[in-house]
Formats: sequence, structure tokens, C-alpha cells
Amino acid sequence: MSAGEKLYEGKAKTLFKGEEPGTIIQYFKDDATAFNNVKKGTISGKGIINNKITELVMHRLETIGIPTHFIERISDREQLVEEAEIIPLEVIIRNIAAGSMSKKFGVEEGIRLPFPVLEYSLKNDDLGDPLIAENHIIALGFAEEEELLEIEEMAYQINDYLRGMFAGIGLELVDFKLEFGRLKIEEDEGEEGYFIVLADEFSPDNCRLWDMETGEKMDKDRFRRDLGGEVEAYQEVALRLGISLETEDK
Ligand code: UDP
Repeated sequence: MSAGEKLYEGKAKTLFKGEEPGTIIQYFKDDATAFNNVKKGTISGKGIINNKITELVMHRLETIGIPTHFIERISDREQLVEEAEIIPLEVIIRNIAAGSMSKKFGVEEGIRLPFPVLEYSLKNDDLGDPLIAENHIIALGFAEEEELLEIEEMAYQINDYLRGMFAGIGLELVDFKLEFGRLKIEEDEGEEGYFIVLADEFSPDNCRLWDMETGEKMDKDRFRRDLGGEVEAYQEVALRLGISLETEDK
């Protein structure tokens, strides 16, 4: 059941027009890519799990006052969201050095950082999502200074909350990527304004989760690094979060 016209086919999700104006349906696929599309594959059932994990995370973040684009999950693989203008930045928070940070700066994976480190990448596949400084973002007009301040505040709050949430189920939140958008609102006297919302998804596709007892990787690094067991890892994260893996029919 995919309502309207296809708007965009991404790597892990396809976006369709929702029935109500100003809404979008995010359809979660099993496709997985890594290294800027060089490695491609599928993780069977991933779309269903990521749809449900994103639903849970967005709900929980709403309860601590983070505005999100999420409206409701409408099927195994689909969720209805508000149509926001996506800010073309990947907002990354790191609690432990891993991945590109370790590679770029020559530091061992697993080093605990003394404070959460926030960094931005420009969302641009052709350029390979380059690391970008705040001054670049503002000077080049990708976002305004006030927007970045708001985004940073939300990102740190999200980190505090989710670190605790995952620690509660024995998982270390190593790092993660967020995306934000501008959501239009009708202000008094018909004037239009907007506010910033958390958009996209939150799932093991865009975070690193390490089992606190065994150190096992429970995220997309299993796919990136050919470790195997990616389906089981994603399922385990969902089960620990109390998510039912019973599916409809897809
Ligand atoms: N990440 C993502 N999308 C990207 C790049 C990174 O979701 O295009 C996530 C990734 O899963 C990890 C965090 O952001 O949780 C930091 O990723 P890193 O910069 O280490 O890049 P990687 O080496 O994983 O591509």
C-alpha cells in the first residue's frame, strides 16, 4: 500500500507522496549500501526492522521534547511523516572513536572520547559526503548560524537520551548520524514560519552499537566489513528494544 507518486528513490528508502498534502510515506527497503555506493547488497527483513526501530526512537524522542517529522507507522515497511525541507547535512555525534574518525585521524577504534564530538558532513554523494566546518556551512548558505545552534542542542540532547536508552539494553551507542529538516508552520495572521525537526530515520543502518559484554558489533558495520550475521544483529537490537518482529505479509 504505497499511496501516491514516487518522489525519490534513496539507497535504503523510497519516498512517496502521502494522501494528505504536506505528508510523505517513507518506504524502508532491504537494500544496503556502503562506501558511497561501492558495496551493495540486501539484508533480508532490514526494512521492516528499521521502520519499527525508527518508530520507537522517534516516539521516545518526542516524549523528551524533540520535534520530529514522524507521524505514524502505517505498515511493516511504511511510515507517514511530515514533508520537511531537508537540510543537506549529516549531523554526526561520536562517543567513541570508530569508522571514518579513526581512519582520518589515525586513532584506534574504541577510544572513548572525553566528550561527545559533533561533526557535520555535506550530504552530497558526488562529493563523497565531505566533512564540512560550521563556517563553511554558514558562509556557503547550507544553513544559518541560529539553525546550527538549534541542531546542536537537539543532537546533544538526543545523544544523552539514546545513550542511556541503549545502555539499558546492554548496547554502547558509539556514534550515529542524524538529519534535520525545516517544517513549515502557519503563524498568526497567516504568516509562514518554520521550525527545525529531526527527520529521516534512526536505525542500525546509521549508528554504531556495540554489545557491552562481548563488544560485538550490532549495526551496519557487519555488512560494511563482511562480518556476517547482519540480519540476526538487527533482529537482536529490535528484540532488546521490545519490538515485535511479527510481520504482516511482506
Ligand atoms: N553514517 C551514516 N550515513 C553516512 C555516513 C555515516 O548513517 O553517509 C553513520 C554511520 O553509520 C556511523 C556514523 O554515521 O554510525 C559515523 O560514520 P563514519 O563517519 O565513521 O563513516 P563510515 O566509516 O561508517 O562510513
